Amino acid sequence: MPQTADVLIPLALDTAYSYAVPAGLVLAEGDVVQIPLGPREIAGVVWGVEERASGGSNLRPVTGLIEAPPLSEPLRRLVDWLARYTLAPKGSALAMALRLPDESARTETMRVGVRSSGKPPARPTAARAKALAVAADGVVRGKSTLAKEAGVSLSVVDGLIDDGALEAVALVPEPVALPPDPDFLSTAHLSEAQAEAAKQLNAAFDAGPPSPRTQGESRDDIVVGALSPKGEGEGSSSEKTLPVAPPHHRSARLALDKEGSALSPRAGRGDAHDASRTILLEGVTGSGKTEVYFEAVAECVRRGRQALVLMPEIALTAQFLDRFAARFGVRPATWHSGIGGRRRERLRAGVAAGDVSVVVGARSALFLPFRQLGLIVVDEEHESAYKQEDGVHYHARDMAVVRGKLEGCPVVLASATPSIETRVNAQRGRYGRIVLPERFGGRRLPDITAIDMRLDKPERGRFLAPPMVAAVKKAVADGEQALLFLNRRGYAPLTLCSACGHRYQCRNCSTWLVEHRFRKALVCHHCGYTERKPEACVECGAFDHLTPCGPGVERIAEEAAELFPDKRIIVLSSDFPGGTERLRQELEAVAAGECDIVIGTQLVAKGHNFPHLTLVGVLDADIGLTSGDPRAAERTFQLLQQVTGRAGRGERPGRALVQTFQPDHPVIAALLSGDAERFYEEEIAQRENAGLPPFGRLAALIVSAAEREVAEAHGQAMARVADPPAGIMVLGPAEAPLALIRGRYRFRLLVKTDRAIDIQSYLRDWLGRSPKPRGNVKVAIDVDPQSF
Ligand code: ADP
Ligand code: ZN
Repeated sequence: MPQTADVLIPLALDTAYSYAVPAGLVLAEGDVVQIPLGPREIAGVVWGVEERASGGSNLRPVTGLIEAPPLSEPLRRLVDWLARYTLAPKGSALAMALRLPDESARTETMRVGVRSSGKPPARPTAARAKALAVAADGVVRGKSTLAKEAGVSLSVVDGLIDDGALEAVALVPEPVALPPDPDFLSTAHLSEAQAEAAKQLNAAFDAGPPSPRTQGESRDDIVVGALSPKGEGEGSSSEKTLPVAPPHHRSARLALDKEGSALSPRAGRGDAHDASRTILLEGVTGSGKTEVYFEAVAECVRRGRQALVLMPEIALTAQFLDRFAARFGVRPATWHSGIGGRRRERLRAGVAAGDVSVVVGARSALFLPFRQLGLIVVDEEHESAYKQEDGVHYHARDMAVVRGKLEGCPVVLASATPSIETRVNAQRGRYGRIVLPERFGGRRLPDITAIDMRLDKPERGRFLAPPMVAAVKKAVADGEQALLFLNRRGYAPLTLCSACGHRYQCRNCSTWLVEHRFRKALVCHHCGYTERKPEACVECGAFDHLTPCGPGVERIAEEAAELFPDKRIIVLSSDFPGGTERLRQELEAVAAGECDIVIGTQLVAKGHNFPHLTLVGVLDADIGLTSGDPRAAERTFQLLQQVTGRAGRGERPGRALVQTFQPDHPVIAALLSGDAERFYEEEIAQRENAGLPPFGRLAALIVSAAEREVAEAHGQAMARVADPPAGIMVLGPAEAPLALIRGRYRFRLLVKTDRAIDIQSYLRDWLGRSPKPRGNVKVAIDVDPQSF
C-alpha cells in the first residue's frame, strides 16, 4: 500500500508537512528524506507515516531518501520535548539534531571509493587520462577527491564510471575513534571514598524502569532542573486557577533539609524513581569526581552501551583528554564547535552506528544520534555555559536529564557547587545524591581569608591591597604559582574624558566601551564594536585627558609587572590572541608550572588543575553581588568557590585571599567559613519565600525592534492581552537589563507562576492572542531564564 509521510523540516516551522511516498520507496519514522518545499528541495525527517488507500494523491511526492543516520525514537521525542518546553518551533528544535553533511563529507559517509576497472575508456581524452592515472595507484576515497587530485571536473569522473573504466567500491574507513578499554586501568587505585561513590553510582545502571520506550507516556513526569512541561503530576490542570500557594512553613523546610533525601510534601507522584536514575555527584574541588564518573563510563562501556560526557566547552583541555587516556588507554572522541565538517560527519555516523562508544563534548553533543546511549554525565552541571541564549533557548543540563529519561539511562550531574535547582531536586528525592566531602589524597581545601578593602586600602591608582601584594611576593619567592582573579576583560571597564566628563559608550548597545590597551582600542563586549582609542577626546578635543576608570585584567597585569618585574606573568581571558587552540596550550603551560603569576577572568577559574598553584587572590569579590539579579548570589558563590578551589591541588597546601568591601555579606561569609551548607540553606529559603525557581516558574519574553517606541508599543500591546488567571503574574514591559544590544532596543515581559501551573500552555495561549510581530519586531521566549 502506498504511504503518506509527515515530514518535519529543520526551519522555523511548527508542524510537519505531508508528502506522498513514491512507489518503490518504503519509509520509516526517523528517516532523513529530500522533499520539495515551494520552489526548492530541502532535507527533512519523517515524523510519521500512514498507509494511504491506493489511488492518486494530490500531495507532492518525497524526492528520495538521504544517506544520513536516521533519527532514533528517543531523539525524535527529545526534539518534541525541546520544542514543547522552550516554545521554539518544532523545526528549529529539529535543526539542533539534524546536521546534514556537506557534499564532501557526504561522500565520506557513504564510504565509496573509486578505482580503475582495467577497462579502457571508450573515448580517451586528456582529462580522462589524468583521472585514470590517479586512479591507477589504487582506490581513491571518493569521486570528488579523485577529481580534485587529477585536476579535472567531477563530470569527467562520472563519465568514466558510466563508461565502466572506473568502478565504485565500498570503503572500509579508518575508525573515527579508537575504542576505549574500560579495564585499561583497574579501579584499584581509587580512594576508599571514591570507590564507594563509584559503587553507588554504578548501582544506577540496574535501578529504575528498564526502558521508558515500553512505558508509554512516562515522559510527562520527567523533572528537570527547574520545571517539567506539564506540572509534574503535582496538580491537575483544574488547579490552574488556584492562587499561588503560600510559602512552606519554615520548620517544615528545615526538617526537610536535615532529612536530606526526604520527599517534600509537594514532591510529585512518579518522581521517586528518578532518584535512582539522575544522580547529583557533589564533591568539593579536588575530591576526584572525574575519576569517579570515569568508573560509570567504564561500566557503561562494559555493558556495550555508549556514554556521553558533557562539559563546558573550554574545559575540553588536553589535560582532561590525557586523564581519560590514562584511564581508558585512548583519548575519547570529542565534539565541539571547532570540529571540521568531514570529521563531524564521520563522528556522527560512528555514533549512529554505535562504533563510537564514548563522546566527550560541548552542549550540542546532546543531540547526536546515539544508537544505544547508556549514560550521560554533565560535568560542572551548574555552569551557565550550558544555557543556550539564542535561537532555541535551552539548558543542556535539563535536556540531558530528559534525554536520559527517554533513553532509559542514568544521568550523572557532577559539581562542587551544584545549581540551586539540582540541589533542591536532590533534597526532595527526585535525584539521587552522592557526596565526596574531602579532597583526594588527604589534601586540604584552601584556607580563605578576607581582605577588608575599607581598612586595607591599595595605594592610589593601584588595585592590589598590601596584604595581597605581600602574599603574592611570598608565594613566588617560594617558587609557587599565584593566580590573581578578576572577572573583567580588558584594561578598564570605563573610559572618560577628565576635561569634559564624556564617557565612551557603544554606538549599538547600552554599554560602556572597554579599553583594550594591548590592541589600542575601545571595544564593546556585547556586539564587538571596536574603535581606535582616540588621541584627543572626541567630544571636547582635549589631549591627554582620557582616563581609565577601574581595573580589568590587563591593568592588573601592568601593576603586577611593576611589582614583580622579574617574574613570568600571563594574562588569560577570552581575548587571548590566537584563539582557543593557543589558549589551550597556554593553560597547559600554566599547569606545567611555566609561569609565576596568572592573571585571569572566569576562564581560568573553572575545572582546571594547576598543581603548582598555591595562592589564589580574588581582586573584587563583590563584582557580581550588586547586579540586582536574584541569581547573583548563587552565581557569585559558585564562581568564588570554583576559583579559590584552584589553590592547593598539588603537593603543597593552598590558600586564598579575597578582597571585599562587604566581608559580612552572606555569600562572602559562607565562602570564608567554608560553610556551603549554610549558603545553600539560606539561598533556597529565600527562593522559596519569593516563589522563584525552582519553587515557582519563570519565563522572559524579550521584545526587540530597531526603534525604541516600536519595541515598547509591541510589548504593551502584548501586555494588554496577557490576561493572566490567578496564580500567574505578568510583569512589564520594562526595559530589559541591557536595553540596547546590536542596535536593537529591548523590552522585557516576565511571567511568574506557581510551580503547579503549566507555564508553557499559558504562554502558548497568550502568544496566540497577541498581535503578530511585524516589520523588524522580534519576540524571543526564554523559559527559565538564567538572569532575571
Ligand atoms: P574534581 O573534579 O573533584 O575537582 P579531580 O577529579 O580533578 O577533582 O581530581 C583532583 C586531583 O586529584 C587530580 O589531579 C586527579 O588527577 C587527582 N586524583 C583524583 N583521584 C585520584 C586517584 N584515585 N588516584 C590518583 N590521583 C587522583
Ligand atoms: Zn555594542
